[in-house]
Parts: sequence; structure tokens; C-alpha cells
Amino acid sequence: MDKEQIAKMQAGRRANHALNGKYAIDLTVDQKETLERVRMYCPSAVNVFLKAFSKRSMAAAVKAKCIECTNLQKAEVTRCTISGCPLWRYRPYQRDAVGVDKTDENDI
Ligand code: SF4
Repeated sequence: MDKEQIAKMQAGRRANHALNGKYAIDLTVDQKETLERVRMYCPSAVNVFLKAFSKRSMAAAVKAKCIECTNLQKAEVTRCTISGCPLWRYRPYQRDAVGVDKTDENDI
């Protein structure tokens, strides 16, 4: 890893810390409870939820909803077959499915 990559990672971490501090104040009780569950079971998605709760990103809101819908199992979002869901075509991690076992889809 070169110095430029390390600097980018450090800047990303600083931005994430700033995001936590800036938006945590405005959370409702329900949002705080959801965030606690996310911190416990899917910590990599904390900033996605913070962005969604703070109205900072609609894409983050879709992503957060899908993660919540699958009980905080991100891999399940990739495998979602509920095409009747209005978010289905917008769900995140679809690109991850390219190299993934498509057995579930073939069974439909
Ligand atoms: S697209 Fe799938 S994972 Fe996302 S909210 Fe709809 S049913 Fe849930």
C-alpha cells in the first residue's frame, strides 16, 4: 500500500468520524435503536444508516432499507428474489451477484 492510498484511507476514516458526530444528534429514539442493532450485527453499514437517517442520501436510504429488510444480512440483499418489491431494481450489491451461485434464481 503506497502513501497516497494510506492518506485516502485516513481521510475516509476522518470523514466517517465527522459523519457520526454530526448526524447522531438528530436521531429519533427508533433510529437510535435501529442504529444500535446495526452497530452490533452489521457494523460496516453504520454510515449507510446515518446517511439515510440524516436525509443526506436517498441511495443510502434504499441500501439501508434493503439491509434492514434482510435482518442485517447484506449477502441476502444480493440474493433477494422479491421482484414485486418497489426497491428490487434499485437494491444494492447486485454487482456482487455476478460471480455468485445463481441456484436460487434457477429454481424459480
Ligand atoms: S428489494 Fe428485496 S431486500 Fe430490498 S427491500 Fe425489497 S424485498 Fe427487501
